[in-house]
Amino acid sequence: MTPHWRNKELTIWKPPDLLTISEWAEKYRVLGPPSEEKGPLRLRRTPYMVPIMNTCLMPSVETIVLCKSAQVAGTEGMISILGYFSHQDPCPIMLILADEDTAIYMSTSRIRPMYENSPDLYPLVIPQEFTQKEITLANQTYIAMGWASSVAKLGSRPIKIVIFDEVDKPGYYVSTKEAAPISLGVQRTETFFNRKIFILSTPTLEEGNISKHLASSDVIYDWHIPCPFCGQYQPLRWSRKYSTEFEEGKYRAEDGTMHNLGEVVWEGGRDATQEQIEKARYKCGECGAMWNTVQKNQAVEQGKMVARTEIDFVPRKVGFHINRLYSLLGKSGNIPKLVNDWIDCQKAGDPRELQGFLNSALAVPWVEKGIKPTENKVLERRCELPPLVVPKEAVALTAGIDVQKHGFYFTVWAFSHDLESWLIQYGFLPTWEEVYDLVFDNAYQVQGTEQETRQIWRVAMDTGGGVGEEEGGISQTEEVYSWLRDNGRNVIWGIKGDARPRGQKIRHSIIDKMPGPRGQIIRGGLVIYLLDTSQLKEDFFWRLSNSDSDPQPMHLHNETGTDFAKHILAEEKRRNKKGQWEWVVIYRENHWLDASIYAHAAADPQWAGGVRVLRALKKPKLKEPPDKPDRPSDWFGSSGGKGWLR
Ligand SMILES: [Zn+2]
Repeated sequence: MTPHWRNKELTIWKPPDLLTISEWAEKYRVLGPPSEEKGPLRLRRTPYMVPIMNTCLMPSVETIVLCKSAQVAGTEGMISILGYFSHQDPCPIMLILADEDTAIYMSTSRIRPMYENSPDLYPLVIPQEFTQKEITLANQTYIAMGWASSVAKLGSRPIKIVIFDEVDKPGYYVSTKEAAPISLGVQRTETFFNRKIFILSTPTLEEGNISKHLASSDVIYDWHIPCPFCGQYQPLRWSRKYSTEFEEGKYRAEDGTMHNLGEVVWEGGRDATQEQIEKARYKCGECGAMWNTVQKNQAVEQGKMVARTEIDFVPRKVGFHINRLYSLLGKSGNIPKLVNDWIDCQKAGDPRELQGFLNSALAVPWVEKGIKPTENKVLERRCELPPLVVPKEAVALTAGIDVQKHGFYFTVWAFSHDLESWLIQYGFLPTWEEVYDLVFDNAYQVQGTEQETRQIWRVAMDTGGGVGEEEGGISQTEEVYSWLRDNGRNVIWGIKGDARPRGQKIRHSIIDKMPGPRGQIIRGGLVIYLLDTSQLKEDFFWRLSNSDSDPQPMHLHNETGTDFAKHILAEEKRRNKKGQWEWVVIYRENHWLDASIYAHAAADPQWAGGVRVLRALKKPKLKEPPDKPDRPSDWFGSSGGKGWLR
């Protein structure tokens, strides 16, 4: 009947196949470079993506929310949804990525190959209509490619299908005169009664976009998989601690009955040996049987989507949650590997690594307990230790000094090898002489002993930013530099806030001339540590919010007062206009916070190994200290690493 149609028209004008999106993807999508896999796309390794994609075709459903970990093929699913509508239901589509680079990469390296690698889709491509930011296909499908901060500029053409990817990235939080990027994008779809909005991301914080959208979904689905031993279908979860959305560790099965969640288990905890890690298993919540990775993976292939709650209405907004335990791709869902990663980030002593694991492996948001603590919360961290007493576990004392025009705010902290910390002393010193005495002519008693004492091992002193306030012709920075050069003795080090941290918390640098117009040369240079105070503050508040059983808990001495707590609460983390977090001073007196941050920096492994280099040192001997010289200069070697022992 259609002899005069060329193949190209046949392809383009063919009526829709009435396929589901997953069927369409397996029929038409052909993987090729840059994807590692080649040949027709197969969804057997990502079975949970099938119902997620196909939900887009349910007439009642308008918004699909996918909160996912990395490496579960979420992006591949997103591309299939875009491909399906562009091919089967020609209409205006908008794809919003986190930033311009990602948008260009997605357009040229993922979207374009989808059409070009497939003999059936290739005829849709009109080269001159296929740009990085706008695509018009031969069947009149229009695709606008944008990024979060550009949504307002993307014209006003109505859109039927809008996809927002990685909505927790900073680009989505840029503040402009217009509404937020997601609302703006959604507004563009209002003329279509059958619009579809797909929002996906790895979570970041609890108040991030994806967590908010997931929480406001009418219903949330999890992929339930059958226990190879008892057959009970259940969602895969890392542990009850990170499953707070399930009350009392129980989930609702498809038949409405409540059952216990399972979890990943291994012996040896944080100190597990490689052998113990290899024996990590998934423990069935129902019968307690231990599944190895192969058994877990086979069960994932037989899974089904089950709603967390019962619903008696037709949902318009449907949420899905997929963590990396479901991944069958490569080794990413391997149980011992995940345990290994978990132990690594527990040991790293960096809350960002822990956040990274929670976000990108467990797909759960990081709860910033530290953002708004109260004075009482801070003071709850007081322990039984009186001031000026060093706990037995401590391997070193560090001090932080915030230099002000009229004097010095200081804090002294004790650290264990594992970076557990104790506030030993805080106060204010009006003169340089008193600073010298605090560091070099002062010792603290060790808990439970009469003879044993410890001195301060390392001190971080603020040198002010650039040229300080002029006073009698000498800037504060110049004054601090000169004093440090004469009195630092490889114990007291200058520090400065790092304006361009380059991802490093602490950097070593050498200053070779004085600040200011005179710029006098400093012979031999002066070592200064550049601190990313924003990262260090995050570490600090994370430690403060940790309980005694968490890694690196922080303790305050039993006489710590509200004056100290007020300083600690003097700054608050807020989003700036560029969508990035920054610390804002809300109470002028923040000096003991700064001094505490500096003292913790001095103990940090990134500061020449920090207190961790002290592991090898022998326990101090319990004997009478040698006669104390007037000036303690002979106590300290140039290494600066042994002086605290006596
Ligand atoms: Zn079982």
